[in-house]
Parts: sequence; structure tokens; C-alpha cells
Amino acid sequence: MIKENLQKIKSKIPKGVKLVAVTKTKPIADIMEAYNAGQRDFGENKVQEMERKAAALPKDIRWHMIGHVQRNKVKYMAGFVNLIHGVDSFKLLKEINKQAAKHDRVINCLLQAHIAQESTKFGLDFNEIDTLIKSKELADLKHIKIIGLMGMATFTDDEAQVIKEFHSLRDFYESMKECTSANVNMKILSMGMSGDYELAIQEGSNMVRIGTAIFGNRNYIA
Ligand SMILES: *Cc1c(COP(=O)(O)O)cnc(C)c1O
Repeated sequence: MIKENLQKIKSKIPKGVKLVAVTKTKPIADIMEAYNAGQRDFGENKVQEMERKAAALPKDIRWHMIGHVQRNKVKYMAGFVNLIHGVDSFKLLKEINKQAAKHDRVINCLLQAHIAQESTKFGLDFNEIDTLIKSKELADLKHIKIIGLMGMATFTDDEAQVIKEFHSLRDFYESMKECTSANVNMKILSMGMSGDYELAIQEGSNMVRIGTAIFGNRNYIA
């Protein structure tokens, strides 16, 4: 089924929109099935789970960290992670920079914007992102590059609300594109999951993070 699900989703995604297959809680065998169907971008939300899977899987996979990152975990992924979606503080950026330097790498990052009504979702508001991107301190971080923004809409059936939130992030993203520097180059807008990716693409997303619609429901074991 994984292969069929992937094909179905790909047929709905325009060229130019990157699909990140979200494999959190899913076994290696499922990831290999998607890999054998041609998928190369995979997303996890726990650093150590991603590290374990990356060690066991082909090396041409591009790993995306899509979850909230604790600073003390950055070191476990700094050697291989392709893109960190959920960056929500300057302190975290500094730690990513420090760990990336140890591996002589530049790690690509997205800043996570808070667009949902729910107060539980992580992220920065637009003013905070604007300040961070224009800050002088950011210029010192030679081992990170901010290449875009990530956001999650409110979990609701109210399509108008979801569209409004995606739209606001798209507008803000466009306004940030002029802020280019040595380590800022806005080109990725990561928004859209299984339940709302079509709306997200309609509103300008160019990277979607899809788990359930490819791999089925997740069974969380406490
Ligand atoms: C789990 C997760 C996804 C994928 O969610 P699905 O509804 O299973 O597609 C996308 N983004 C983030 C940040 C996630 O944690």
C-alpha cells in the first residue's frame, strides 16, 4: 500500500513541491518500501529515533528533523541531518551552528512560525522572526543557513481558518525573501500535512510533510 499511497499523493503534488515522507514511529521496513518506490526525503520528529534509522538505512536518504528540538540533542544529528524544520530560538540556532562546525558542515534550517490558534504549538511570531533574521548576531553563525519557514495550521475542520493561517504565512514568507545575506536565503515554505496539504499547496507551500496518508495511522505506545 505504501507505494500506491505515495504515487497517489505525488499525482496531486505539482512539480516544484517537495514531498517529505514522515516516518516517525514507523519501522525500517516501511521506510525501505518508500525508498524502493523512489522516495529520498524522510522526516522524523525525535532526534534519537532519526539517528537510529539513519544508521540502518541507505546513505543517500535526506533526513529532515520536523519536530521540536532540544538543544542537548542537536549533537546526535549534526553529522547527517539535511534540514531542521522546527528552529524556534536563537539559542537553538547557536547550538546547531556549534555542532555543525565540529563536522565542518553548514546545516540548513527553517524557522518555525506560530500560525495556529492553539497555544500548544511551538514557534515564533512574525515579529520575532523578522528580528532574528535581521539581527547582527545571526551573521556570526557561519555553520547554519536559514533557507525558509515552516508552519502548522490549527487542527480543525474549518477550512477557512486553515486557509487564512497558511495565507498569512505565505505573505510573510514573501516579504522576508528580500532579506538575503551570507546565511539567509528564503526559498522553502514548509507547510501542509496529510489532512491539509492540498490547501497548503494552494496557498503557496513548496514543501509538504506527509505521514499518515502514506504509512497509515501511527500506534503510539506509551
Ligand atoms: C507528524 C508530523 C507531520 C505529519 O503528520 P501526518 O498528519 O501524519 O501527515 C507533519 N509535520 C510535523 C511537524 C509532524 O510532527
